[in-house]
Amino acid sequence: MIPGLAAFASRFADVERRDRQVLVMRGHPTLGSAEYSVLEFYCAASDCDCRLVMFGVIAAGAREPEAWISWCFEPQPGVPGPELDAMHSQGPWAAALLEELQRLLARDENLRLRIAEHYGLMKGAQPKGASKAGRHHGLSPDVGAARHSLRREL
Ligand SMILES: [Zn+2]
Repeated sequence: MIPGLAAFASRFADVERRDRQVLVMRGHPTLGSAEYSVLEFYCAASDCDCRLVMFGVIAAGAREPEAWISWCFEPQPGVPGPELDAMHSQGPWAAALLEELQRLLARDENLRLRIAEHYGLMKGAQPKGASKAGRHHGLSPDVGAARHSLRREL
């Protein structure tokens, strides 16, 4: 995992247990029958309002996530949807898991709202002070460059 990311479960274990998203595959052409937990990680920088979540999609019993998927949940025009994160190594089934998670996020508004809520919890747990600096990562005119700079910080 990239330093600078904090696991949602490490700070809000009860909420995480209640809300944890599980991808249940039954006879999937690529993934077969398996269950994957979708773990959430958020950037821990208190002065950053990037609106990014990093998903670690991990099979039951596995040590490492099979797929790392980053998503800007409040995108500006031109910001891509959920995508495989370039800073993490991906497992062989990562592309198929990305597709499943993209589909789920597209249709499940409650899931999208939960992500935003969890992000708020994580940021609320940070010391305040830089909120006036605003959303300098997600909303700069050059969103692509901003996201790259975020990744360097992470
Ligand atoms: Zn951030």
